[in-house]
Parts: sequence; C-alpha cells; structure tokens
Amino acid sequence: MSNTPLIIGVLALQGAYDIHAQRLRELGAEARLIRKPEELTGLDGLIIPGGESTTFLKHLERAGFYDTLNAFVRTHPTFGTCAGCILLAKEVSNPAQQSFGVLDIAVERNAYGRQNDSAILTEPTKLPGGPLEMVFIRAPRISRIGAEVETLATRNGDPTLVRQGHLLAATFHPELSADPRVHQLFLDLIRQNTR
Ligand code: GLN
Repeated sequence: MSNTPLIIGVLALQGAYDIHAQRLRELGAEARLIRKPEELTGLDGLIIPGGESTTFLKHLERAGFYDTLNAFVRTHPTFGTCAGCILLAKEVSNPAQQSFGVLDIAVERNAYGRQNDSAILTEPTKLPGGPLEMVFIRAPRISRIGAEVETLATRNGDPTLVRQGHLLAATFHPELSADPRVHQLFLDLIRQNTR
C-alpha cells in the first residue's frame, strides 16, 4: 500500500462540493474541485455531490462533459451522494431522467414526501462503530438493488448506502455529519482496488 495521498476530485458544478473537499483533506487526501472534463485526468476517485440532479445534467451538456464523465464512472472509483447517487443509478423515476446507469439500483427521486423533505436520522449500518447519523435533504429512495450491490446502511429498511465494486452511493449527505466514516470508507475502497 502506498502512502502517497490519494487524489480525489469533487465535481464542483453545483451543490455541496466544498464540505466534501474539506472532509477529504481532513482524512489526508488531496482534493481537487472539478469544473472541466479535462480535470478528471489523473484522479484516483471522484465524488459527485448532492444538489439537484437535473441541474447537474444541464451543466454536463456543455463541452462533452457528460460523455467524459460517463466513461470515467465506468472505470474509476466514484462516490455519488444524493443527486450524485441519482446520476449513477440504472433506473430513475419520479420523474424518469437520463443517468449514467452504471450502478444497478432503481431510485425514486424526492421520495420521502413533503413533510419528510429533510431529516436527520441515526440508523443501522454495517460500518464498524455503530449506528450512523444520516442527513437527508429531498432524498431519493433506493427501491431496488441488483445482485452485485451490497447494502451498508438503511433507513426503515430502505438501502441508504450501497456499494457495487468501484462504486459507492449514498442517498444522504455524509459531508453534513461530523462522522468521517463514510468518506474514510470511500478512501479505503480506492486503496483496496487500485493500489
Ligand atoms: N432532490 C434532488 C434530485 O432529485 C436530490 C437532493 C439532494 O441531492 N440533496 O436531484
């Protein structure tokens, strides 16, 4: 295992990217804000943050960014949180929209209803260290997972943190909790896979 810092990109077109970068730096990684397709070169991994997935798609239409990112997520460790999870999912509903389709899950957007638009819940996880605080903001619901997908945390039985090979996705915002375990998991996953 190499001790050189991992270089992690945070897609910075929109949404909650700064706090992700800060968290990655606290954990010893080099964090780069990614605003152009060519900046994906040389990364060990990428976080696609929460925000509004439709807005991400609009920004990505520029300058071949969608196609470059589409190729990237197929081969490089990528962590999608909330809107980022929606972009990675194979099936998107409520309403249906374009996605990279690389993670074998179905997601229903804004699925927890108006009253539960936002919620902070502490729920079971397979991660060592006991229950995990999860901040949900207009969160999607994972309604189906494929055979290759492992569930690492849940909300009332619904998967909220899932892994499939080099891909990790959360329906919540791990950067808004003080607990570093989810970002650490992503860094560990990269070290296991690529170094
Ligand atoms: N509701 C947003 C969407 O559908 C996701 C919300 C979030 O990322 N916090 O894209």
